[in-house]
Amino acid sequence: MDYICSNCFAFIKPERWNLGYRLCLSCGELYAKGLPLPKPVKIPPSKEEIKAANELRRVEAEAKKRSAERFAKESAARLKKIRDAEMARLKKKYREK
Ligand SMILES: [Zn+2]
Repeated sequence: MDYICSNCFAFIKPERWNLGYRLCLSCGELYAKGLPLPKPVKIPPSKEEIKAANELRRVEAEAKKRSAERFAKESAARLKKIRDAEMARLKKKYREK
């Protein structure tokens, strides 16, 4: 468990954290004085996070592709059934004449 400031992500001493503080000393001081807090720092994603996000996107795309393929297969099967039934009906009709 990392004890980090919920505003600037600076490390907070566990003793401070255990007292219920979720802001680091400097952010906490500004907050106590009613002063504006510094803008939160944006932490760029790590290589591992980027890799994980890309992998997730790839898996999602694969799942979408598979589901589309399954749908196309099912549609083709349904269409074939309808065509076969229609052919059978026509054959029967013209043989009866
Ligand atoms: Zn802070």
